Amino acid sequence: MSKVTATGKSAWKYAKYLALKEVARACVALHKLRESLKRGLKSICSSTAIYRPAGAAAEYSKVAAGFYVGCPNGCIYCYLKIGPTSGTLGGSIVKLKKGLKSEADAVEIFFNELFGGTGGVVRPEILRDGLFFTFTTDPGLPETFHLFAAVIAETVKLHVPIHFLTKMTGWMESDIWEDLLSIPETKEYLAIGFTLTGRDDLEQKASPNKERLVALRRLHDEGFRTFTSIEPVIDIEASLSIVKECIGVVDLFKVGLESHRKYDKEEVLRFVGDLAALPEKPCIYLKDSIIDLIGRERDSFGENFVDANFRP
Ligand code: SF4
Repeated sequence: MSKVTATGKSAWKYAKYLALKEVARACVALHKLRESLKRGLKSICSSTAIYRPAGAAAEYSKVAAGFYVGCPNGCIYCYLKIGPTSGTLGGSIVKLKKGLKSEADAVEIFFNELFGGTGGVVRPEILRDGLFFTFTTDPGLPETFHLFAAVIAETVKLHVPIHFLTKMTGWMESDIWEDLLSIPETKEYLAIGFTLTGRDDLEQKASPNKERLVALRRLHDEGFRTFTSIEPVIDIEASLSIVKECIGVVDLFKVGLESHRKYDKEEVLRFVGDLAALPEKPCIYLKDSIIDLIGRERDSFGENFVDANFRP
């Protein structure tokens, strides 16, 4: 990968990333030295940065991490802008989550919660289930990537599996990404996914779907484990053709419907039948939104239809 020379804003972001990475490194060192944390939290559920998602998000990941709320990508179906959480989570301006005083404070709280009073040992449930980045913004935004990358840089060294899902591709050209690539554990513990709907017109400020496809191919060629979220399925034909285009570069497809929209059951059944008929037998997780509508078991479509515990 060619090195991008950091100038102006990107140089400032890179400097912030390096400073936050130092905070992350110091947090890990501190926790390894302590026998137990006096500031240990009672439960992940009461945490600020690491938490157990509820509702539909829980199907996506058992444990998630997040530092910000708000996202400028402008997806018209954005789940943050619909429902009871829209007031606190749904803005288009990225802000630190309530309870985090600064980005450095966010890093410190993240590692407090990662270790959770276990004296320098990562909580076993996090090692087992991994961490999902993130439900309350896009972690690949220019506003967010430096902080996510700073914690990823130290967390992969602790052998925590991380799933990073984005609609942005610009971060792959940054000095920050180049620095992450220099850490051997990054490739082993970081799986990267892109959401693909095929509808740029409904996601106007995100990177175009074609660019996300190119990014997936590049990451796959570089040896990363990749996944894609075909969700929400807006246009069945577009979703099917995206799956076909991604075969061979994506290790897991997660396919789900849009909440609050009425789908034709027969049409969705035909779509799943078309997925099952793909000769390459790609690894597919059908979300509950599909299973509940069509009333069939996942494994009735073939062994390549995996359950929620499958990790790419
Ligand atoms: S990228 Fe995700 S968080 Fe951002 S607007 Fe789109 S759906 Fe919402």
